[in-house]
Amino acid sequence: MGIQLPVVSAPARPSPGVGRTADARDTLGRPLRDLRISVTDRCNFRCVYCMPKELYGQGYRFLPSAELLDFEEIVRLVRVFVRLGVHKVRLTGGEPLIRPGIERLVQMLAGLDGVDDVTLTTNGSLLASKAAALQAAGLGRVTVSLDSLRDEVFGQMNDVRFPVSRVLDGIDRAAAVGLRPIKVNAVVKRGVNDADVLDLARHFRGTGHTLRFIEYMDVGHSNGWQLDEVVPAAEIVDRIDAIFPLEPVEAEYPGEVATRYRYRDGAGEIGMIASVTRPFCGDCTRARLSAEGFLYTCLFATEGHDLRRLVRGDKEDEVIEGALRDIWGARSDRYSELRSSATADLPKVEMSYIGG
Ligand code: SAM
Ligand code: SF4
Ligand code: SF4
Repeated sequence: MGIQLPVVSAPARPSPGVGRTADARDTLGRPLRDLRISVTDRCNFRCVYCMPKELYGQGYRFLPSAELLDFEEIVRLVRVFVRLGVHKVRLTGGEPLIRPGIERLVQMLAGLDGVDDVTLTTNGSLLASKAAALQAAGLGRVTVSLDSLRDEVFGQMNDVRFPVSRVLDGIDRAAAVGLRPIKVNAVVKRGVNDADVLDLARHFRGTGHTLRFIEYMDVGHSNGWQLDEVVPAAEIVDRIDAIFPLEPVEAEYPGEVATRYRYRDGAGEIGMIASVTRPFCGDCTRARLSAEGFLYTCLFATEGHDLRRLVRGDKEDEVIEGALRDIWGARSDRYSELRSSATADLPKVEMSYIGG
């Protein structure tokens, strides 16, 4: 029999912190706590589940730099988001480390009152050279994506033949400069890297890094997602548990996306992000800001809200705050809970645009 997944409810955060007015709540009573900011739609990888080469080839038109929010615009928006209840900011992309001057943005965000945590999700390709500067700028932690330890499989998944060793160097360097604890994300696609699950678990056991397996999701329309390519989290847990016995761990905070387990022998933890087989919409406190300044209230949203127009117009912060409050107040998203053949064909934004 498989291990039972722990359940956690979502109590409200106690009181508004620095710079906050009243916390925003959506139609389901969910507060707004985390903001994921995509700083670029470009990437140096072409992961088959995210930016397949056939679509993101030579002819693909990425956003021109004038259309990206600049750092001052991002910081201004984050300051307003803090007033609504946001206290965690994650930079993502595309590949966030290819945005020139990203360390400066980290520094600006880390210095904001009310922002407790600035983190970043990266493919790790540039992490070895940038980790020290990011840490010095105030980055708290880093999440690194790595789907296999075998060059053959990883190269096929990133589709630019990027070697595993350079991502591992990035992880080592990040740990050495103190960007700990590191989370390592592995998307599992049946028939592609499901045979790599145990190797990954074995490698990261005892390192202090937390390996998290992500169920392959139907984000966007470019990856040709099929349900039978999803490896259910419960299957992954059972496979690891059979070799390295596991036990469930209570969630650290409401809205935590990963379901956590610890090795019974004390060799650390793993996490499962089971957005397909065990949706967590009820606890979802995340909003996503695209690189060009559109706000999405769900990873699977069909449309975004143009905040760049507000920021580049002559709107006061109070007007922007009111608009954000209205957007969040009207939110009723729970795509993963409703996922069905009826939702499959709805227009959805791509992962590389919205940032995961
Ligand atoms: N480029 C960075 C990276 O790969 O870490 C940040 C952006 S990427 C879109 C953020 C996360 O989304 C990565 O961990 C990636 O593996 C995950 N991801 C992308 N497409 C996915 C999909 N179809 N299903 C599940 N996870 C996906
Ligand atoms: Fe790039 Fe990350 Fe998407 Fe891979 S998952 S193509 S590294 S944005
Ligand atoms: Fe949140 Fe949408 Fe994902 Fe549900 S499907 S957890 S509402 S982002």
